[in-house]
Amino acid sequence: MTQALLPGHPHVHYRDQTLFVDHVSAADLASQFGTPLFVYSKAAMLSALAAYQRGFAGRKAQICYAMKANSSLAVLQVFAQAGCGFDIVSGGELARVQAAGGDLSKVIFSGVGKTRAEMREALELGIGCFNVESEAELEVLNDVALSVQRQAPVSIRVNPNVDPKTHPYISTGLKGNKFGVAHDRAVQTYQHAAALPGLRVVGIDCHIGSQITQVDPYLDAMDRILDLVEAIEAAGVPIHHIDFGGGLGINYNGDTPPEADALWARLLAKLDARGFGDRQLMIEPGRSLVGNAGLCLTEVLYLKPGEQKNFCIVDAAMNDLPRPAMYEAFHHIVPVQQSAAAPTLYDVVGPVCESGDWIGRERALAAQPGDTLAVLSAGAYCMSMSSNYNTRGRLAEVLVDDQGPHLIRRRETAQDTFALENLLPA
Ligand SMILES: *Cc1c(COP(=O)(O)O)cnc(C)c1O
Repeated sequence: MTQALLPGHPHVHYRDQTLFVDHVSAADLASQFGTPLFVYSKAAMLSALAAYQRGFAGRKAQICYAMKANSSLAVLQVFAQAGCGFDIVSGGELARVQAAGGDLSKVIFSGVGKTRAEMREALELGIGCFNVESEAELEVLNDVALSVQRQAPVSIRVNPNVDPKTHPYISTGLKGNKFGVAHDRAVQTYQHAAALPGLRVVGIDCHIGSQITQVDPYLDAMDRILDLVEAIEAAGVPIHHIDFGGGLGINYNGDTPPEADALWARLLAKLDARGFGDRQLMIEPGRSLVGNAGLCLTEVLYLKPGEQKNFCIVDAAMNDLPRPAMYEAFHHIVPVQQSAAAPTLYDVVGPVCESGDWIGRERALAAQPGDTLAVLSAGAYCMSMSSNYNTRGRLAEVLVDDQGPHLIRRRETAQDTFALENLLPA
């Protein structure tokens, strides 16, 4: 019997008590590729993308996947083949877009600290737009563009000063954040940009935060941005595209974000009502395209009962799944093989030598050493944020499609982790 697991996780289900990712058994994946292991569903990524595509049907809109959420080459390849552009934040990410066969003219370059070398490289490759975050950056970009005899297409990231009602570490559109240009400086900044010969103003952008589960912050930000577009154009600087950033949340633990198509039905109604319905639109979703398309398989190493707490020690750790340690984030943890045994409450922790190395707290599990668990919602901000702390090799990654599982990244060996190092001379 097939049993769906959780809303928002369409790709994971139980079949006769065994966990499946689409048509592939998670137990088979763990034995074939070993643990800990990231597993992604191509179908789940494409279905998340399809919700945006439905939302924008009949509109001039470009979806640029914010690749910092998961920048593995095969993941980029899936989105490139589906017509996406990419929102990048470094020269390294630009190199990944090239390696994955992405369309460079659909790349937008965000981030508060672009270097001259990164700007030059992106200009020479002909990316679509620089999302500039300060007046100082405008000057430097102008300088670099003139030095390579190009004109840089620019959008200015404006800070709309709305509260996205999410975790403070992932809210970015408030006055106290380091991101973007203040709303009340925007018109001046645009006039400044328009006067610089190395720049060509093409758009405006904002990004108010991440894991946003409500529609209102988006509606408020849109009003603030449209007010600015009117003011900037009245000051003589035409704006060709409007980029509303990313940030839509996913269901980690009973969260109920709107579907992308429902969100955009509301936003497009506002755009139409304010007379901006035929503008070129851009969006930069990251988490909502990949977060629930991935999970992490991990083996139970030891059970450690205690007076105050029981610990379930697994082979994945905070260096592989950094979100709990960084933001106290929640990931569901479920068994790969369901059991009828009575569950016990465990803190699920990894082998890393830090008390912050926990993956889930007070979880009811009927686990035994040797069992495999699945940490859900691990497609976004997990592999891309992982590290080699404690000289732990990064995990292998598998992408499941119609043909079956594909190893898209092999497991790092200890030698891989110190391959760039040199001993001192004898
Ligand atoms: C991180 C980021 C995104 C994507 O955010 P998600 O919450 O993953 O959708 C989009 N745009 C910019 C500028 C970002 O920094």
